[in-house]
Amino acid sequence: MSHEPIHAEKFEFKAEVRQLLDILVHSLYSSREIFIRELISNANDALDKVRIYTLTNQNIAGKDLPLEIKISCDKEAGKLIIEDTGIGMTRDELINNIGTIAKSGTAEFINQLKENKGDTANLIGRFGVGFYSVFMAATKVLITTRSAIEGSEVLAWESDGLGEFTVGESDQKIERGTKIEIWLKEDTKQYSEVETVKSVVKNHSNFINFPVFIEKEKINTLPALWTRNKSSITKEEYQEFYKFLTYDSNPPLDVIHISVDAPLQFNALLFIPDKSMDFFGMMKEDMGLDLYVRKVLIQHKNKDLIPEYLGFVKGVVDSEDIPLNISRETLQENANFSRISTSITSQILNHLIKISKERPDDFSKFWREHGKIFKMGYQDFMNREKFAQLLRFNASYSDKEEDLSSLEEYETRMVKNQKEIYFITATSRAALLKNPFLDTFRSKGIPVLFVYDPIDEYVISSMFKYKEFNFKAANSADFDSLNKFDDINPEEKPSVEELSREDKKHLDSILEKWKDSLGDKVKKVTLSKRLKESPVVLASEDEGMSSAMLKMMRMSGQNIPVPPKVLEVNKDHKLIREMISIYKLDKSDALLQRYFDQLYLISMLYEGELDESYQLVEKSFDLMTDAAGWYLKGKE
Ligand code: ADP
Repeated sequence: MSHEPIHAEKFEFKAEVRQLLDILVHSLYSSREIFIRELISNANDALDKVRIYTLTNQNIAGKDLPLEIKISCDKEAGKLIIEDTGIGMTRDELINNIGTIAKSGTAEFINQLKENKGDTANLIGRFGVGFYSVFMAATKVLITTRSAIEGSEVLAWESDGLGEFTVGESDQKIERGTKIEIWLKEDTKQYSEVETVKSVVKNHSNFINFPVFIEKEKINTLPALWTRNKSSITKEEYQEFYKFLTYDSNPPLDVIHISVDAPLQFNALLFIPDKSMDFFGMMKEDMGLDLYVRKVLIQHKNKDLIPEYLGFVKGVVDSEDIPLNISRETLQENANFSRISTSITSQILNHLIKISKERPDDFSKFWREHGKIFKMGYQDFMNREKFAQLLRFNASYSDKEEDLSSLEEYETRMVKNQKEIYFITATSRAALLKNPFLDTFRSKGIPVLFVYDPIDEYVISSMFKYKEFNFKAANSADFDSLNKFDDINPEEKPSVEELSREDKKHLDSILEKWKDSLGDKVKKVTLSKRLKESPVVLASEDEGMSSAMLKMMRMSGQNIPVPPKVLEVNKDHKLIREMISIYKLDKSDALLQRYFDQLYLISMLYEGELDESYQLVEKSFDLMTDAAGWYLKGKE
């Protein structure tokens, strides 16, 4: 007998649901069994909700009903039925919850599904469009539901998943909760067999908090893992639970199991995922720990238990010392809640420090996957010291761009009397190795942190110092004080001839001309003391913000003009010497002017300030073309 909706109203699925259904029904044939996991997980959520509802409401339908999930199989009819005694749905809820997708990032999710990147089963689970997955296996679905609100009517929802659904009254008897009847497709009939369904449930839904019965047999028997004694839990059990919790098919990078009895009782079972789950850029929605009070789920994905920069951590927290009927709004004001939160945060950081010391390879992996989020921890003043211990940078003494150094290691590399930690920003290590500002640092053996990610500069400038050492941008460091450090190879003096007095005068005039030609673009054009391998460099005179910082502020829409800088010229560079020779032949040679412009653009490029690089490209082409002409003339 089929209990179709009575006095039914017809509705159309929203466009994105239709698109999703189309993919689920027509192109996904692997791991179809996960629809069972999804329906059980919805039933579980509905039971969690009704349990909370009971805490604050006296009048509730089916007050004495046990909280459970019942599965029945009808092999002959090719049907599977999943029932729960959960919160149920009102008419509005039925129409709004099942028929639309509330989540953002749906389009991106649908794209990923279409391309079938990664495994479908986990994509579906993580994105939480679970209910619709039933149509991978069903030709028809009938939902019969009755809300926990006293006096609610029994309602029916029916659809073949093609584009429309109907909602009406039902002639079935339900005290409270939801019953989902599934007519299976020809090739998914195995899900109407008890043994098959049992094994699917054991595989995917073993950690469900409420009893699941299949044909009267209770099949999930595992108690809440986090309340068990650590020594009794195997690695496999942790992994299985992690998979259940996150839909991540890789085992976690690490498990943190905390059990505290005094002064406050709580258990926390936390995981650091092996891979960042921040795909779709919907990390924020997905962040948070599940908060239980005496094994009752109070809040799914609570966002206040750990700070945002530890948002990559997944897991559950359970405490006896939070009132069971606390509202979400007052949670944060609860003193015990804050104490638990402080303790968890500090233990996660301790744990990360431990990994960094004992398993450096795993730590590098952590940094690669979660570093971007973790860096936001510069705002956590309470844990600043631990945070600083965990920070990693590439550095001048690293072998390659991927290598990471701690500030502690930097400290061991510092030269005698060094009082500051130097850093420099650029887009790549290759660019930095050629950066003229680093010449002096190299000759003195002073270590420099290499910073490629703009956020690092925020991190550094807001940390201000590490231990007693202030951070300082290498390109605003004062040359004379740097020069006081010993050279590593004092014998290695450059073998360039000194300029004659006369040439020195010519050079002074060239610098004057150069400044006139650049006008307000530069503050001064002067001789450089620091340059070794480059002809020019653009230096800031003051100790203000570094260029990368200014650039970032400008990117964020703030109108900050480029402050004029000092163009430093290397008198010993071959190119500058050639310019002197040209000047001697003809003081107003047009080629000099071209060099003035082009070298200025190059110095801007070094500084990362050259926004319109086409100018430099054009000038280079012109010069190359002319050079070819001069070369050929010389060959004649
Ligand atoms: P999600 O569970 O991620 O929200 P679904 O598409 O699986 O996405 O379900 C949509 C909504 O339908 C749920 O959020 C819930 O409000 C409602 N729902 C689904 N199944 C049930 C059920 N068994 N009992 C009560 N409400 C349900």
